Order: sequence, then C-alpha cells, then structure tokens
Amino acid sequence: MLIHGKCHCGNIAFSLTWKPDPAEIPARACGCTFCTKHGGVWTSNPKGALEVVVKDPALVSKYAFGTRTAEFHVCTRCGIVPVVTSRIDGRLYAVVSVNAFEGIEPSLLRRAPASFDGEGEGDRLARRKRSWIADVRYLEGAA
Ligand SMILES: [Zn+2]
Repeated sequence: MLIHGKCHCGNIAFSLTWKPDPAEIPARACGCTFCTKHGGVWTSNPKGALEVVVKDPALVSKYAFGTRTAEFHVCTRCGIVPVVTSRIDGRLYAVVSVNAFEGIEPSLLRRAPASFDGEGEGDRLARRKRSWIADVRYLEGAA
C-alpha cells in the first residue's frame, strides 16, 4: 500500500510504502505533553519506506523538547505536524501522523493510547530503532 499524507496547505507532504498491504494500521495517540496539546496520533512501520517532500523549508519549524532527540516538523503556514524524525547513530528514523493521511479508509486505523512517560533516553532511542520507519528520504526545496 502507498499511503499519501500532507499538511493542510501542502508544504509538507509524505508518501509511505507499506508492504505487504496492512490489514490494519496502528495509530498511537501519544500522551506526551506536546501531542496532548495538538492531538498527535502516529504510526510507523519499521519495514516501511518513507519519502518526505518539503516545498519551502523556511516554512517548517522543527520543534524539540524534553530529551531533544526528536524533531516535530511543524508547518508554520498551516500549523499541522505531519512528521516526526529522530537521528540515531547517523540514521534518520521517522513516524507520520495518521491525521495527515489522504484518502485512507478510517476503519483501517487501530487507535490506541500510547504513553512513554518514565522511559529513559537509552530505552527511548532503542524503541525508535525497533519500531520507527528506518528508510527515510527527506527532500527539501522540491516543487
Ligand atoms: Zn502547511
């Protein structure tokens, strides 16, 4: 399955290749302080391939907090947060927002709360290496 998503104005777009076609897509409603405020719900597939295309990088705020090991890519024109990335041992990992999906049947989403409070930084990075998308291309300035 090829999943397309983008922020509301289209400045940040992504395509996620998910093989084989998923019977369901996990959708984690993150309980961190930032995601609670903006309603962040994320998915990833460690075997997936993600391409992120940013038209105007000047209109993307990369927000980090807490351990500052992940960057939330916030479109400063429309306020949507379609992608989070984390660079670990030189490799870029990512999760994408199911709220930014385009044309995906909502019944495919298996929604569940997720809380990573109390997780140490080492455990956090190890979990991302296990479960986040590990094949990420991030293209800036592409039309
Ligand atoms: Zn936007």
